Amino acid sequence: MVSNKTYVTEGLILNHRDFGETDLLVTLFTKSFGKVPVVARRAKMPNSKFSSGVQLLNKVKVSIGRGRNLDHLNECEIIDSFQTIKSNLTLLSKGLFSSELVVNFIQDRTPNFQVFNALEQNLNNLETQKNIDQSMIWFQLQLINVSGVFPEFMVCINCNENLKRKDHVFYSEIGGINCDNCINVNADLYHGVTILEDSLGFLRHIQRVIRSSKPYFFDKYLDDNTLNDLNKFLRIYLTYTAERQMKSIKFLDLVN
Ligand SMILES: [Zn+2]
Repeated sequence: MVSNKTYVTEGLILNHRDFGETDLLVTLFTKSFGKVPVVARRAKMPNSKFSSGVQLLNKVKVSIGRGRNLDHLNECEIIDSFQTIKSNLTLLSKGLFSSELVVNFIQDRTPNFQVFNALEQNLNNLETQKNIDQSMIWFQLQLINVSGVFPEFMVCINCNENLKRKDHVFYSEIGGINCDNCINVNADLYHGVTILEDSLGFLRHIQRVIRSSKPYFFDKYLDDNTLNDLNKFLRIYLTYTAERQMKSIKFLDLVN
């Protein structure tokens, strides 16, 4: 529902920080309007009507007033507060990591249903403690894909030959792998990480799924070795791309 002065939508609270003496600046990821910064006036005051609503990771229904520079929260009703996640430090760290990734990877005010659904699904899986590790990996791969930086795992980045089924070194700078013949082509790369054969098999499967654009239900079983390996790869690649992504988002904000 939209009027000139207010809009109503559902959203997830990604983060917030102090804004003056009594207010909070909340980053809200909304279904219909994307990621929006909103001021929650007097949210730091005792008995504020917003104090429980703007807790991190809450799913909320909000009414937002448009401002000249910043929008502000009129109403904030909790739909789901993910209490199981918040009562367990491991789950909480995974939930906060997921929301931080969205903050870093997604531009403000650009609706993105796919990422909204992926984050909500991931939080639901954490809340019900259903295939947590698988869910985290699937969420990160979807985010990488939507951001347009899904790597190449099928063929050599340099000569386009199919990669052999074995362990390979992946380089974040080139978003892929050099085959054995091309291993010396990019001698100046240093963001390398070895990906094991089984993990590469899984990543190729995901690459095929993503390229086919068909609806996909993620239900792959991954053993502990593969999970650890994928987590190591994702940590290195996401850190590298988030830095680049952040620079491009800052640039976009600067020129718009
Ligand atoms: Zn090659």
